[in-house]
Amino acid sequence: MKRNPLFFNVSEKYLFHEVKTRVEAFKKSHPDAQIISLGIGDTTKPLAPTISNALQEIGQGMGTSQGYKGYGPELGLVELREKIIKTLYPQISWLDSDEVFISDGAKSDIGRLQILFGDTTPVALQEPSYPAYFDSSLMIRQKRPITLSCVPTPNGTSRLLLDTLPKGSLVFICSPNNPTGTVFTRSELKEYIEISKMNGHILVFDVAYREYILEGSDLPRSIYEIPGAEEVAIEVGSFSKSCGFSGIRLGWTVVPKALRYADGHSVNKDFTRLITTLFNGASYISQKAGIIALSEQGRKETLEQVSLYKESTKKLKKALLERGAKVYGGDHAPYVWVEIDTLTGWSSFDYFLSKAHIVTTPGIGFGPSGEKFLRMSGFARSDDIDESINRILKLNLRNPIE
Ligand code: PLP
Repeated sequence: MKRNPLFFNVSEKYLFHEVKTRVEAFKKSHPDAQIISLGIGDTTKPLAPTISNALQEIGQGMGTSQGYKGYGPELGLVELREKIIKTLYPQISWLDSDEVFISDGAKSDIGRLQILFGDTTPVALQEPSYPAYFDSSLMIRQKRPITLSCVPTPNGTSRLLLDTLPKGSLVFICSPNNPTGTVFTRSELKEYIEISKMNGHILVFDVAYREYILEGSDLPRSIYEIPGAEEVAIEVGSFSKSCGFSGIRLGWTVVPKALRYADGHSVNKDFTRLITTLFNGASYISQKAGIIALSEQGRKETLEQVSLYKESTKKLKKALLERGAKVYGGDHAPYVWVEIDTLTGWSSFDYFLSKAHIVTTPGIGFGPSGEKFLRMSGFARSDDIDESINRILKLNLRNPIE
């Protein structure tokens, strides 16, 4: 059989391979170095006790004839869909449970959405961003996605040029953003929604990090907080970063009934058709655990963990600023986006590895506009964060070459 030619367009994981090669080489020449990874984009804290206990009970129940469950509804347990609406979208009055689709994680639905819109739809994405948007588009389309550079600078973050896209584009955006940690404001989203309406674009809004937005801030946690978004936007959510479910696998996607193709057909109906064909639903165990995670006690415990990750990120940011780096993000996201004058590309990665024995993620891994930056993650273990800060405080990031 011939290889699918589209896979020639998808690069091997050169970046992470290169990170590994550089770290291995460094370890060889410095066998005693205590290397810490701040490259990690995954949660590290154990599951909250309420969730862990519930999982044991659910597992026990599945081992009894009364408690056993086979296939569930393809779109997800109604109880979970209603709980998501009540807990995460209390102010969105139009939202109905058949507009909320339960997934086995945001990444899977990003892939399914690519299939939904087919291989002739023009695709664009915020850049730098989570690599899955770009790569999953390459896997089904000849045409490469259009990248919309959106980089923070001391004078603010550049605007997404949605008005330059072909009419009827599918656009992936993410807020709070991985990797830059920046968040779209209400007025930015209002503008993007208006432009999308005028041009027939559909926005896919990724809210995997929504719980990292500071309590009391006016920044939107959902695009549906802006009136009219239901006519142009799909929202993709995840339990991974907010509840430590990256290994359990659970997410959701909102496809409003008000969202229509140019010919008036319902996007929600097509997505329902697609899901019932390609997916047999998220696991019963993960969905039941999700219901517990959204209970009062579950929320309390998981949001405490989110606060600890935020605290770590804040401390990292403070140390980097103190030593003279330019630092973006980190206030409403578990990532800081670091720029050090005179160091670009791999030189800043090598600098932190050789001078502080800290592994980071080069910004270039998230798109070409990331060239001058590094991403550091507050998801690392607290003791690793504290030790990294001790080491960072010994660096001169204003003049690293000295
Ligand atoms: N969206 C963004 C922006 C991410 O950074 C990630 C994971 O790093 C995901 C989605 C994946 O989420 P899930 O674990 O639900 O597939």
